[in-house]
Amino acid sequence: MAAADILTRLRQDGFAVVARDGRVVVRPASALTDDHRALLRQHRQDLLELLLDPDPRVTCVTCAHYRLHRCGQHRAALLQGSDIAPALAELPQRCPAWSPRG
Ligand code: SF4
Repeated sequence: MAAADILTRLRQDGFAVVARDGRVVVRPASALTDDHRALLRQHRQDLLELLLDPDPRVTCVTCAHYRLHRCGQHRAALLQGSDIAPALAELPQRCPAWSPRG
């Protein structure tokens, strides 16, 4: 799982995630599950780098508008059609219509 996807998951799960004094700080820490803690342990450095230098690219598979290889907002995403090839769905890209899955 990419750092951006982990960050999206943590934020969707209700956590505030920031970089502070060279560390990844997640609040409320008391709500972290064992799965969250394992992800943080495995990807702490990647998360820190992402928080310090955010990548503006997103993936369709993390987008609320993505359904079964189709984009539900293709005009706003500046696409010619709604089809999204499976290989492209996981490719980081810039998209003006991306919205996090809720
Ligand atoms: S809005 Fe953008 S990121 Fe979302 S599914 Fe469509 S093309 Fe992908």
